Amino acid sequence: MQTPEEALEQAALAGIHPLRIPTPFAVGRVNCYLLEDEPLTLIDTGPNSGKALDELQGQLARRGHSIDDLELVIITHQHIDHLGLVEIVVEHSGAEVAALGLAAERLAGFGEEAEREDHFAVELMLRNGIPQEVAFALQSVSRSFRGWGATARVTRPLADGEEIAFRDRTLETLHRPGHSPSDTVFWDAERRILIAADHLIAHISSNPLLARPLGASVDYEGPRPQALLTYMDSLRATRELELELVLSGHGAPIVDHVALIDERFRLHERRAEKIAGLIAQAPRSAHEIAHALWGNVAVTQAYLTLSEVLGHIDLLLRDRRVVEEEHDGLARFRTAS
Ligand SMILES: [Zn+2]
Repeated sequence: MQTPEEALEQAALAGIHPLRIPTPFAVGRVNCYLLEDEPLTLIDTGPNSGKALDELQGQLARRGHSIDDLELVIITHQHIDHLGLVEIVVEHSGAEVAALGLAAERLAGFGEEAEREDHFAVELMLRNGIPQEVAFALQSVSRSFRGWGATARVTRPLADGEEIAFRDRTLETLHRPGHSPSDTVFWDAERRILIAADHLIAHISSNPLLARPLGASVDYEGPRPQALLTYMDSLRATRELELELVLSGHGAPIVDHVALIDERFRLHERRAEKIAGLIAQAPRSAHEIAHALWGNVAVTQAYLTLSEVLGHIDLLLRDRRVVEEEHDGLARFRTAS
């Protein structure tokens, strides 16, 4: 088994170089990847800020390139810490933009799509017991972060399973929804390397963030997407791949993806059991459960923790261990009799 440092050497020998770009978010720096191949390719750009742009330029220059040289930008998913600089990069370089075709509309309509996403989130929060003032406060936080995002015009829509041919390699496009509906990973089968963005991260369990489904109508209100179930299906598919190295969107490279994925499955099982226990004590809303599990974090990170709880409740609903009841627009969960 390689150390993370050896893994990065292996990636460098394959012409893949991480560029660690700062973000204003709690997650810290985002890993973008420079692919020294033909076409010269950047996988993810980092968020839309002067600081991120400076670092991107500086780190490209250290490898003897400039933004103008980029020929292809690949976007891994819809989150703004990964794609905010795409417009500026394209302005400088004229690069093609490749991303999952299913996500193209979502990426092209950034402003109004983000607004709809926020509306969807507020409705979901209110239904699941988050106080109105917390829901509205989170909505304005989300709006205040909007400037770190940007519209991405996809010129090269990718299908699930589609191969992207480079001079020195072929990458297979694999749709792996769960963390977000548009999560896409890129697989070099010959070298057994997976560029995975936030689908799999060594030091944090990727949050199955509840989001509007891709291609949802403007006034979409439900059913609630089952992000954790979707994510676990995606993890099962990734577990089957023969891999030596997974390059993530945050943190260190992963050299044993099977062990890590199995650890994630155990975590989700434990958490579902804990939640089943809380619901057995008394019927509760998802927010009350989040509060019981994480205390005040359930307020400051209300949407994150709500997504986490609802994901695990979906496991219990699937197994018919709990049922959902609604009174006056508030959803509560109780043990199935
Ligand atoms: Zn993400």
